[in-house]
Amino acid sequence: MAELRWGTATDPGRVRPGNEDSVLAVAQVFAVADGMGGHAAGEVASAVALQTIAARMGQRPASIASVTDVVRAANEAVYRRSLAEPTTRGMGTTLALVAPATGADGKDHLVVANVGDSRVYLCTDGELRQLTRDHSYVEEMLAAGQITADEARRHPHRHVVTRVVGIEPSVAVDTWLVTPEPGDRYLICSDGLVDEVSDEDIAQIITAAPDPQTAADALVEAANEAGGRDNISVVVVEVLASDGHRSSDDVAPATTQATSTTEPLGGWLPHDLAHGFDADADTEPPPAGGAASAGAPAMATAAATTKRKRHLVTGRTILFTSLVVGVFVVALVVIAAFGRHGYYVGFQDDAVVVFQGRPEGVLWFKPTVESVSEVTRTELTPEFQSRIAGHPTFASSVAARRYVEQLAENQRALVADTTTTTAAAPATSAPSTSAVPASSVVTGAP
Ligand code: MN
Repeated sequence: MAELRWGTATDPGRVRPGNEDSVLAVAQVFAVADGMGGHAAGEVASAVALQTIAARMGQRPASIASVTDVVRAANEAVYRRSLAEPTTRGMGTTLALVAPATGADGKDHLVVANVGDSRVYLCTDGELRQLTRDHSYVEEMLAAGQITADEARRHPHRHVVTRVVGIEPSVAVDTWLVTPEPGDRYLICSDGLVDEVSDEDIAQIITAAPDPQTAADALVEAANEAGGRDNISVVVVEVLASDGHRSSDDVAPATTQATSTTEPLGGWLPHDLAHGFDADADTEPPPAGGAASAGAPAMATAAATTKRKRHLVTGRTILFTSLVVGVFVVALVVIAAFGRHGYYVGFQDDAVVVFQGRPEGVLWFKPTVESVSEVTRTELTPEFQSRIAGHPTFASSVAARRYVEQLAENQRALVADTTTTTAAAPATSAPSTSAVPASSVVTGAP
């Protein structure tokens, strides 16, 4: 394995009351975790994640597979802890990690892994190159070409992360295999550093420092001088000796092996639902209001304070939002269907008109004119007028129009034969039943 030396520093910064970051630096693994969650929960999340990684990393030689397994174990440890302790519900943490490994070719390698927006950089020849890709909202917009790198750096939503350790039963881990060369200095850091210090300044500080510990201390100092608005954590790892040789191709980001072990949506969705919404699913206490507590309160807290606060958008948040929107849409469709269902006859000004909808309307679904008959109020008897005013309803527009025609015929018959018959308006049907008037002939008094 490559011969390494390293230095670490972590600091709450100048604004935050506590430090929710954790750092890990032992011979087998170097990591930074940036915790999030209410009160001290973020601190717990980042500490549990790194404790799990420290305990498991020594048991197997590092490889992409073993690092992925260990990060998943950390995810499970944080997730279980959050279920077990109500005060830590919804907590999570980012993770950026470097682990020395021996490749399949027997040569020295480093496994790089990340979840969230903590980062791993390679500093070589005075230049800084980001090896990891953030799992964040702005990174996705950047990748889609919707914003520039400069806009991403200043974007108001740059703290919205899209992937976190410990918030879901499983997690997708991005990994890379890189070849270390003597003189390389790797930087693992939380966003509290990169938000405050430019890449150029970071490269200059790391390159100028005589050793990794001096570099780590100087980086934290620079972030604090720039404002220190977030917790700042750095691990600087220097390669003293390595049998690996990076080819010119190997320097290009395209040749790093990105392995995203994303589980398909169908893989976590039912399990997540079982944990989130079924209290009797197992003996673990369910995360009550899990979806809401994962995202919405964090957003609300952030909005209420001027402090920059990390936000989280998870699959569960998106699922919950989709469900709420879905239920709302279905309700609207049902209300619209109800509001627009059926026909009735009434007056509009003086004309007898067939309307579609409910006489009183339903919410903002008002009745609309289906057809205007030639029958007018003035040519109807008071008896017929009061029947129309009672808004007889029909299941179909055809039935409603037939009723009006019938009414007109009856009215004419009444006028033609005033001596022997008394008019009776056609019987109206009950709402939403078939609505042919009961009789087409005037038969007698009602
Ligand atoms: Mn942070």
